[in-house]
Amino acid sequence: MKISKTNINFGETPMGNDLSILKYEIDSEISGKTFYIQSGVHGGEITQWVLHDLFNYLKEHLKKGKVILIPNANPVSWLQRTYFSTNGKFDFYMGKDWNRNFPGDFDGSLGERISATLFEEAKKADFVLDLHTSRESIPFSISFSKEYDEYVKILGIKYNQFLDLETNKSYSNTLNAGLHREGIPSLCVECGSHDAYEPENIKNVFEGIKNLLKHFELVEGKSVKNEEIKLLSKSATYYAEKGGIIRLAKQLGEQIEVGDDLYYLYDNNDLGNIKTVNSKHKGILFKISPTHIYWSGDEVVQILLDN
Ligand SMILES: [Zn+2]
Repeated sequence: MKISKTNINFGETPMGNDLSILKYEIDSEISGKTFYIQSGVHGGEITQWVLHDLFNYLKEHLKKGKVILIPNANPVSWLQRTYFSTNGKFDFYMGKDWNRNFPGDFDGSLGERISATLFEEAKKADFVLDLHTSRESIPFSISFSKEYDEYVKILGIKYNQFLDLETNKSYSNTLNAGLHREGIPSLCVECGSHDAYEPENIKNVFEGIKNLLKHFELVEGKSVKNEEIKLLSKSATYYAEKGGIIRLAKQLGEQIEVGDDLYYLYDNNDLGNIKTVNSKHKGILFKISPTHIYWSGDEVVQILLDN
């Protein structure tokens, strides 16, 4: 077993400091598949809890092939701090989602250079996982091809989203879409809420990754497919019809029926007026916003709809 740490340079800061991405390679030194996992392309999305557990597990259990771990895929996005919040979803310079630059360009913008650096590593792998968190959310995977249903079942997370790239063009320049075009299977895993420590979710994702490692014969044991999982392709987003403060009527992960109270809007321009918003959909409340403060048109909740 050989464990190495490499810093891959992708540029310099204005002050001349080196900008680099730290790569871990855990190599069994026995031929087999290569498994690549990256965390933190969006600053503030702490999914590294899983990588710490995984690293310790692999040191003991990796039997074949190698695993590449990138704990901080985008060091620039992690510098975007305001008070106690790391707002690393968008590149403030380009006004663009950091995960919309793939496959990237070594001669392009900073975001494209970061993406090109990551893509070059990821495309050498047989299978790729891109770990994220999503506001306040339950864990779920996102897959971009029906060819990957098998991997979603092996990952075994209960609720999952399938987004067809033909109809979801805004995802065309994500890491997963880029890899799909190269014929490399991958999944995006939303591990839970932003800047949170959610032990159940961490365990859920960690066990799913172990099961995938078994499937690719990197560790011993037989992988199992969770046939109970839900792979849903439709979701509904509710936007604040007017500005105000909002209190949710439901908990994250709760089953929603048509007509249920979804949230209450307190209109600050009309004290005492508390408007109930009812659900027009049936499904699972899978994503909520980490705030009570809403401008007109802000996203309040998302429901993953029962097929
Ligand atoms: Zn993300």
